[in-house]
Amino acid sequence: MPHYKVAIVGAGPAGYFAALALQNLQSEELQFSIDMIERLPTPWGLVRSGVAPDHPKIKTVA
Ligand SMILES: Cc1cc2nc3c(=O)[nH]c(=O)nc-3n(C[C@H](O)[C@H](O)[C@H](O)COP(=O)(O)OP(=O)(O)OC[C@H]3O[C@@H](n4cnc5c(N)ncnc54)[C@H](O)[C@@H]3O)c2cc1C
Repeated sequence: MPHYKVAIVGAGPAGYFAALALQNLQSEELQFSIDMIERLPTPWGLVRSGVAPDHPKIKTVA
């Protein structure tokens, strides 16, 4: 069974949606261990300050 170790740099929306896409690909035959690396002390990138409340889909990463 292939088991891939993946590092995603940046815990903003792109990083979280990339992790979600990999998780959705998982099966009995294909597994991922995912680490997310963020340079700031808090995750979510510009969701904290750069996404307006009328874009709820992007804010769901929080
Ligand atoms: C002023 C402003 C207003 C906006 N308004 C809206 C809006 O109303 N609606 C909307 O949908 N979008 C809006 N956006 C855009 C939205 O913020 C971005 O589309 C979205 O945040 C991009 O996600 P991202 O994951 O690509 O990048 P980011 O959100 O920037 O996340 C990247 C993350 O990676 C980290 N990182 C970067 N380099 C490294 C490294 N070398 N090592 C470790 N970590 C690293 C950063 O610290 C950050 O946390 C706005 C943006 C701005 C600037």
